[in-house]
Amino acid sequence: MTMIKSNAEQIVTRIQQSCDKVSRDVQEVCPIIVTKNRTNEEIQEVYSLGFRHFAENRVEKLLERQEVFPQEDIVWHLIGPLQKRKVKQIVNRIQYFHAIDRLSIMEEIEKRLDSPLKCFLEVNVSGEESKHGFTKAGVFEAFEAAKQYEKIDIIGFMTMAPFEANEEEIRHYFHELKEVSKKIQSTSTLKLSMGMSQDYPIAIEEGAHFIRIGTAWFE
Ligand SMILES: *Cc1c(COP(=O)(O)O)cnc(C)c1O
Repeated sequence: MTMIKSNAEQIVTRIQQSCDKVSRDVQEVCPIIVTKNRTNEEIQEVYSLGFRHFAENRVEKLLERQEVFPQEDIVWHLIGPLQKRKVKQIVNRIQYFHAIDRLSIMEEIEKRLDSPLKCFLEVNVSGEESKHGFTKAGVFEAFEAAKQYEKIDIIGFMTMAPFEANEEEIRHYFHELKEVSKKIQSTSTLKLSMGMSQDYPIAIEEGAHFIRIGTAWFE
């Protein structure tokens, strides 16, 4: 068995175990393969195993990947911040955008979209200065502001735990995102995009619907 295949089996098993632990249906959790810094051969292998949700954090890189992987069954996620001048290049080429991190980017996204795009509002739950996203208080206003845009479909919230945090702290930050989500009135069930290679089991236990895993598939 190749390393990628055994890593994939391990990830699938851990997703199942985390769901079992908190009595969640495994179908609620979508693993996204973060392909940044990986070779096309590595990505091809994950695709061959049947996984279809792929992500890049940079616009240029995502567009390059789409040239190499034009398969129509791939679901593309942009998970990194978007600069205004790049909005028009990308928004009609992806199915999910995880990182609306400021009010000023929404107008441009709306203007450039041909049809609705599923988006997450990024929340800086830890409050670290280096992190993007709305504050826990500011996200309520952002959610309201997004309602004026017909094509921006806010389906939930995204966050990243700090790299040096211990398990208890990570759990706390993920829990806080869930609390934010519960406080927001919405007609649809809001989704949470949280959890990476180091912390996705905790994220699932705390309610994640989309887990963004890179390294763990490949190393
Ligand atoms: C790189 C990246 C990930 C995946 O990180 P790993 O630790 O490699 O799993 C997830 N989310 C974002 C926004 C990233 O940039």
